Amino acid sequence: MIVVMQPETSEERIKEISENLKKRGFSVHLSQGERRTLIGVIGQPQEGLSHSLEAMQGVEKVVPISRPYKLVSREFRPKNSVIELDEGVLIGGDRLVIMAGPCAVEGEEQMLETAQAIKSVGAQILRGGAFKPRTSPYSFQGMKSEGLKILSKIREKTGLLIVTEVMDPYSVEEVACYSDILQVGARNMQNFYLLQEVGKIKKPVLLKRGMSATVEEWLMAAEYIMSEGNYEVILCERGIRTFENYTRNTLDLSAAALAKQFSHLPVIVDPSHGTGRRDIIPAMSKAAVATGVDGLLVEVHPRPEEAFSDGPQSLTPEQFQHLMSELKGVAASVGRNI
Ligand code: PEP
Ligand code: MN
Repeated sequence: MIVVMQPETSEERIKEISENLKKRGFSVHLSQGERRTLIGVIGQPQEGLSHSLEAMQGVEKVVPISRPYKLVSREFRPKNSVIELDEGVLIGGDRLVIMAGPCAVEGEEQMLETAQAIKSVGAQILRGGAFKPRTSPYSFQGMKSEGLKILSKIREKTGLLIVTEVMDPYSVEEVACYSDILQVGARNMQNFYLLQEVGKIKKPVLLKRGMSATVEEWLMAAEYIMSEGNYEVILCERGIRTFENYTRNTLDLSAAALAKQFSHLPVIVDPSHGTGRRDIIPAMSKAAVATGVDGLLVEVHPRPEEAFSDGPQSLTPEQFQHLMSELKGVAASVGRNI
């Protein structure tokens, strides 16, 4: 439930109520609005609790949260959450955040070439997997720690921020050292130990939707992270498995729109894994931006035909540049800029 405090209630009073709730066995999460503080109360419902809270001095009302996700829900935080990163990059602000780069880190030259190309047309964040979750154990598994070092070198050289995947709970610390955002991939969306570990760190987490996860399961996965104390979660729709085989996945923009509606967290869309086809990525990127999401994650490779993975869905730098210019008008039509 949410305890809505009266405007201008003293911090002391809020603390007293929070302590009272903790003594009763609840976990307490504060959300500071413009005038009011909301106290999120998580735990097993207790009979009569709402009434006794409502009788307390300073409490305006008590609102039950009907959905199973609590901290993630719009009821907990009615306003959009904005995540602040280095270099003045905001995720969830007026400016769309564009993350771009190859599927995998393949070497320093490839990353530098890509980074310079995407930066010159306005992308703020460089992506690239150092640890790659591959369907086949015989496919390229990523450059691992060496790949992380390359990413951080490129960050230093270009000022681009870094998002990269973490695949297991034991690598969280290492990946966090070299990146600005940790990506939890679709295959790990319900790896609850991993979600708890990334919940304990102080770095934003990009949570991809599992390939057969419902919107509720996706939001519950975000709840796992937030319940550990990390409120900086970015939701990423990346397509789901359907019967359709002209595309790799079916990009579910309705899920992105619902996530924006049900949650205060920033939402981005990955049209690359969402379709698997370079030819429709521009169309789906524009559609995603029109939906009202906060950004895109797009695979770009300097020579897609040579890519170690996901070449068919990677844009060339020229195609990416064209897309970025096309997105300007769409962004403006929904009150955003790029
Ligand atoms: C990726 O972004 O490199 C990736 C593997 O994506 P997903 O987890 O969405 O398949
Ligand atoms: Mn990929």
